[in-house]
Amino acid sequence: MLKVYNTLTKTKEEFLPVEEGKASIYCCGVTPYNHPHIGNARPFVTWDVIRRHLARKGYEVRYIQNFTDVDDKIIQAAKQEKTEWSEIAGRYIKSYFESMDALNVRHADKYPRVSETIPDIVRMIETLVDKGYAYPLENGDVFYSVEKFSGYGKLSGRKLEDMQAGARVEVDGRKHHPMDFALWKSAKPGEPFWESPWGKGRPGWHIECSAMSLKYLGETFDFHGGGSDLIFPHHENEIAQSQACISDEKGFARYWLHNGFITIKDEKMSKSKNNFFTVKDILKEFPGEVVRFFILQTHYRSPLDFSEERLREAQAGLTRLENTRECIEELRKLPGEADTAKELSEKAKELMAAFDEAMDDDFNTALAISQMFALSKEINIYYQEVTAGGKAFDAKGFAAAAGAYHDMAEIIGIFEQETAGGNDDLADKLMALIIEIRQEARKEKNWAVADRIRDGLKEAGIILEDSKNGVRWKKA
Ligand SMILES: [Zn+2]
Repeated sequence: MLKVYNTLTKTKEEFLPVEEGKASIYCCGVTPYNHPHIGNARPFVTWDVIRRHLARKGYEVRYIQNFTDVDDKIIQAAKQEKTEWSEIAGRYIKSYFESMDALNVRHADKYPRVSETIPDIVRMIETLVDKGYAYPLENGDVFYSVEKFSGYGKLSGRKLEDMQAGARVEVDGRKHHPMDFALWKSAKPGEPFWESPWGKGRPGWHIECSAMSLKYLGETFDFHGGGSDLIFPHHENEIAQSQACISDEKGFARYWLHNGFITIKDEKMSKSKNNFFTVKDILKEFPGEVVRFFILQTHYRSPLDFSEERLREAQAGLTRLENTRECIEELRKLPGEADTAKELSEKAKELMAAFDEAMDDDFNTALAISQMFALSKEINIYYQEVTAGGKAFDAKGFAAAAGAYHDMAEIIGIFEQETAGGNDDLADKLMALIIEIRQEARKEKNWAVADRIRDGLKEAGIILEDSKNGVRWKKA
């Protein structure tokens, strides 16, 4: 049974899909005005694993993630560079995909952009005005009236009275309540604008996610995700807009999942604090899978402290798992009818069940990964017994354990690219050829050539190892 922690109810709940056999997800995407930093990447890696797990459980998953391509920060960046806002947005959307592809984040089913969703956004604002939840001003701005929505504050646990008392001296006297927020902003000179019933302007930030989720997932869907900094006001406002629009207090997203921050020395990583690392820069030092693995070794709701040391630890751990995969590849080539891997395959089945159980418990990737390490250890022992200990090989029993290992890797999303010491197909073929030539030289007692090959490879950082099953190579 899959259980998820729902921010809305502050409890772990059983997941019951809106539609049998299907899982629909909306996750707030990025504002493309800069390269994504590692804190931005966390929700997308998290949701990528969640999608993989849901698919493994048999759900047909639909995943929508937006790009806020019309925004003050983008307009600001365009002014600074004396270019178009669309050029800035286009550049950093491209950068987003480069970074996320490197982290093995599979693409969403749809990436709606604000600039392409204006008619839907305008229609939703019109509905809110018609129903009395929103009020236009003379200058063309349209505000949402938070007092009109009785459920305002239910996600973040805030009360409107407290918010009013806590609000600083209200500078915008045109608002009915200090917490009222803009649905539509009238056009300012030199800024992008679209036509609307209230004149030329552009949408406020929150309305896009309500309009996009409605357009692509319908009135009620399963999961809504994002970083915990989005709970208030962004997600609170999304609920107010959507539920007022669809007239259903229980409609809109059912399960609200929020990931914790990435911190640096216990301080939240953010652009405003200027203590951030872009994924792009980290990828110069570490393979993408290491970064992904680092993120997933902590449960998504916990804070995650970023440091080079922690990345190195993740790299060492991933290399250990990678070595086991190489042992598996080596043993898989062997024939073997013995019945020696029964215990191993039983153990693999148990660990796979524990892995699934951890994932079913609010997607506890940290615990799931520890099951994969346990299986890696079991496989390594069996490998040693066969290659060094002379134990007869059991191809069938071993294949079951190898299959479980492969399934775990697929959910975590590793072994999909070249990482610490992984060997690609071409390298394998070339190395097989070189090793064959060396073996022939040795057979002919041509020690000069054999030694030259071994020394040359060593200089290139490749070590040859003699084993019972022939010569194996690995990166030093
Ligand atoms: Zn959003």
